[in-house]
Amino acid sequence: YRSKAKGRGSYTLFTPNMVESHKRKLQIANGIEQGLREDEFIVYYQVKVDNQGHVIGAEALIRWQHPEFGMVMPNEFIPIAEQGGKITAITQWIIKHVCMDFPDIKQWAPKNFKVSVNLSGHDLRNAQLFDYIYNTLNLYDVNPENMEFEVTESAYLENFELSNKFFRRMSNMGFSIALDDFGTGYSSLSYLTQITIDTLKVDRQFVMELQTSERSRLVTGAIIDLAKRLSLTVCAEGIENFEQWDYLRQHGCDNVQGYMFSKPVPLKTLLSSAPFYEESQFRS
Ligand code: C2E
Ligand code: MG
Ligand code: MG
Ligand code: MG
Repeated sequence: YRSKAKGRGSYTLFTPNMVESHKRKLQIANGIEQGLREDEFIVYYQVKVDNQGHVIGAEALIRWQHPEFGMVMPNEFIPIAEQGGKITAITQWIIKHVCMDFPDIKQWAPKNFKVSVNLSGHDLRNAQLFDYIYNTLNLYDVNPENMEFEVTESAYLENFELSNKFFRRMSNMGFSIALDDFGTGYSSLSYLTQITIDTLKVDRQFVMELQTSERSRLVTGAIIDLAKRLSLTVCAEGIENFEQWDYLRQHGCDNVQGYMFSKPVPLKTLLSSAPFYEESQFRS
């Protein structure tokens, strides 16, 4: 093979870049267990606000302060952890750390505040996770009503029966359930009649296109209507400007999160911020 490392349409099978990225992937895969033991991971929190700008919750989003690579983002290491069968160890780590943060959050937050934790599809197949959640919340004395679990639409539907069973149990225990990244993964809506969820999360893709695409506005409006008819709460993610927020709430969207309010931040930063946002801050 002729090597043309730079330039498109190269014939090379392995470029130096591919070798590097493969090495990085391996190091990430092999470093997860030790990283968890040594607490190299960090929980960041991104606030969710209601129509008035009051903070009503926060999504826990994991980061990895890697000894060699610096800050590694979940979009990179979560899929690797899933492939290597290590995702549930990460999920347990984050649940435990959210519980440990809870006394501080409780001091700061309004009464009905919920912290949302993301679950992977693989988690639902792990028979021990349910007990782990139950025991950990007991140990740290956290009320399930202050916690929500987010699962993507596609992960939920990968194993529909199992998901239904898992989340029905979770719901019976008092946890809230949100269907994440809704609208991107699936074509049929009929499953919505059979599942136990509380919230639909409108994917950031739709929010991004609100100002430029009439179709995205129509689809977003339809998702909100659908959720309302099913008596579900609607939360939209990825709000970056006032126009997006205004469009969403005028069309009945209950809650939002996005960089306009706050990026995901470490606990300390969360606790030093005000639990409400004045609309006048954002108006252009
Ligand atoms: P997600 O659950 O849909 O989380 C929202 C993502 O959108 C977060 O990225 C958040 O930082 C980002 N985001 C929020 N508002 C804005 C905005 O206004 N503009 C832009 N450009 N981005 C915004 P992040 O933290 O990088 O997480 C990416 C994904 O990784 C998450 O998507 C979730 O699927 C996954 N993830 C994160 N933490 C965990 C975890 O603890 N467990 C599992 N299983 N997955 C996680
Ligand atoms: Mg999420
Ligand atoms: Mg999401
Ligand atoms: Mg998303």
